[in-house]
Amino acid sequence: MVDLFLKLKENAALLWYEKTTYCLLCGNVSEEPVCLICQQAYFFPNLPRCGSCGKILAETKTRCRNCETGKGPEGLDKVTCLGYYKGAWKELVQQIKYKGQPYLIASLAEVIIPWVIRCLPPPDAVVPVPMHPDRLSQRGFNQAEALASIISRQLAIPYQNLLDRMKDTIPQTTLGRRQRLRNLRDAFSVKPGYSDLREIVWLVDDVVTTGSTLEECAGVLKKNGVKKVYAFCLGAGKEE
Ligand SMILES: [Zn+2]
Ligand SMILES: [Zn+2]
Repeated sequence: MVDLFLKLKENAALLWYEKTTYCLLCGNVSEEPVCLICQQAYFFPNLPRCGSCGKILAETKTRCRNCETGKGPEGLDKVTCLGYYKGAWKELVQQIKYKGQPYLIASLAEVIIPWVIRCLPPPDAVVPVPMHPDRLSQRGFNQAEALASIISRQLAIPYQNLLDRMKDTIPQTTLGRRQRLRNLRDAFSVKPGYSDLREIVWLVDDVVTTGSTLEECAGVLKKNGVKKVYAFCLGAGKEE
C-alpha cells in the first residue's frame, strides 16, 4: 500500500510538477542538458587539453605533438575546448550555427560555465571572434558572439565585441600552416573607438581546428595592449 502510494506520488510529480528534460545530444531523459554518458563520450572531462591549440589529449601532457614541434598557434596564453568535435556534438554545434538557434547555447550554459571557469584564469573581458559582415548577413548571427555574450552574462564579466573581420577568408582547413597565416594576415583589427584594452581577455569561438584564427586575433589584441589572451571554444579535435 505504501509502495503504491509512493508510486502514485511519483507519477503525479512527473505529470504535473516536474519538467522532464532530455539530453541535447542523445535525447535520453537527463537532469542535465547533456547526460553523463554523452559527457564522457564527447567532453572527456578527465582528459587534458593541449594548452596551445585546445586539442583533446589521450595522455597526460600539456601540448599536442603538433604544438610541441612548433607547428601550433603562438601568442595565446592558453586554449581550452569543451568537447570533441565529432558525432552528436558536432551536429549540435552545426545546428546552432547553421540553423540560427542561439537558445541552444543558452541551454548549454550549465555545462559551459563550470568548464570555462575551471580551465581558464579570470578575465577582464569576454571577446568573440568576429565574422565577416557578408557572412554575418547571410547567416543572421555570429555563434561566437552568442556564446561570448552568454558567458559574459552568466559570470558578470564585461562583453566586448572588440574585433572587426575585414577579410572574408577561404576555409582554413584546406591550407597548410604558412598559407593559413597568409590567408589570415590583416584579416582582423580592433574596432575604431576602442583604445584602452583590458589586460586579460577570454577570446571565444565555436570551433578551433588549427588555431590560426585564434592566433591572429590574439596577435591583434596584444598589439593593442592586451597582456593575456585565453581562448575558449565549444569543439576541437582529439589527438590519437
Ligand atoms: Zn546523452
Ligand atoms: Zn596543440
